[in-house]
Amino acid sequence: MTSATPPDLSIDHARALDATDPLASLRERFILPADVIYLDGNSLGALPRAVPERIAATVTGEWGDGLIRSWNDAGWIEAPRRVGARIAPLIGGGAANVIAADSTTVNLFKTLSAALALRPQRTKIITETRNFPTDNYIAEGVIRQTGGRHRLVHAEQATAIADLLDDDAAVLMLTHVNYRDGSVHDMAGLTKAAHDAGALVIWDLAHSAGVMPLDLAGCDVDFAIGCGYKFLNGGPGAPAFLYVAPRHLGGFGQPLSGWFGHADPFGFDPHYQPAEDITQYLCGTPPVISMVALETALDLWDGVAMRDVNAKARQLTGYFIDLVEARCAGSDLTLISPRDAARRGAQVSFTHPTGGYAIISALIADGVIGDFRAPDILRFGFAPLYTRFVDVWHAVDRLAGILDGRRWDRPEFHARRKVT
Ligand SMILES: *Cc1c(COP(=O)(O)O)cnc(C)c1O
Repeated sequence: MTSATPPDLSIDHARALDATDPLASLRERFILPADVIYLDGNSLGALPRAVPERIAATVTGEWGDGLIRSWNDAGWIEAPRRVGARIAPLIGGGAANVIAADSTTVNLFKTLSAALALRPQRTKIITETRNFPTDNYIAEGVIRQTGGRHRLVHAEQATAIADLLDDDAAVLMLTHVNYRDGSVHDMAGLTKAAHDAGALVIWDLAHSAGVMPLDLAGCDVDFAIGCGYKFLNGGPGAPAFLYVAPRHLGGFGQPLSGWFGHADPFGFDPHYQPAEDITQYLCGTPPVISMVALETALDLWDGVAMRDVNAKARQLTGYFIDLVEARCAGSDLTLISPRDAARRGAQVSFTHPTGGYAIISALIADGVIGDFRAPDILRFGFAPLYTRFVDVWHAVDRLAGILDGRRWDRPEFHARRKVT
């Protein structure tokens, strides 16, 4: 949000904002390199300080000494349920309705397949063109699986989504906070519109969990999926999570009918009999070490109010926008994130006609980590648990320095790497 009065551009103002930040003390609970300003916690959350030791104990004690006994003795077998129950309050779902499993992508396959099976007469899956590609790719894969009976219908504009909800709409599948521009969908309103049309909803919470107050149960959401390694800080490739509304549990739901989703995995029944509870959404053996990392990272949320986290996200992003617009004026950067703080998540994106990738590369060389999203987007994430206002100030100071005299426009900054 751009303030009515001109923003205070002094670093003292940033320091004053940090001094009154109710979440300031949480930063110490992360390990962050001293020479880096990290504005990419929306892509890979930082390392919680408690994680390395906990992982070491799991590896040497539980795996090394406990060996296979640790499935029972160290509670490995319960980890997906236990971690799911820890995530549940962060997303407004019941503990019995959330489980940690697989990747977000795989969880979408499971939930989308289950949702379509609940609307057998309908053929449309509705999403938006600018959704994160993996979501749309999975929908295309599910459609191939169902013999092409379904169709993926893309809304070009967010405002057009409701118009596509007709009596042939089976599922509305959307990402709550958009990965490109950080804009937020009206979860309650769109869920209701889908239900009024007789369709089900699947919300992807990849950029919402850990920054947005969420109320899946209150919004009557059918299914949700989300990511463990972004704002939940579970580490690279951390298990993802999924939510299933109580009314959709039971019976045959998801198609990846592996032994971990069986009613009695160690009964070694030759035929699949699904668990009646959320464990049906497991497939095979969970990655225990990654589960432990995510579970340990979730300790950080004890006693933290999501409204404080979201208030800080709004403040950090608003402050960043104010500073960039004041200090980088005339640089060809165009804000594409909503100016209204209530309509954006914890990220701010700009486009640049030619220099998007090179500016981000030059910033990373200067110790400020953001990321680039093709074709022209510079994306900055502001994880409220560890990002300070002084970090924002210094990041913009360096950005202004890079833009000044087009210091980014050198061959070394244009050379593309595999991960951007
Ligand atoms: C990050 C992200 C994913 C990631 O999926 P993975 O299976 O973890 O690779 C999925 N959907 C959205 C919207 C994302 O932002």
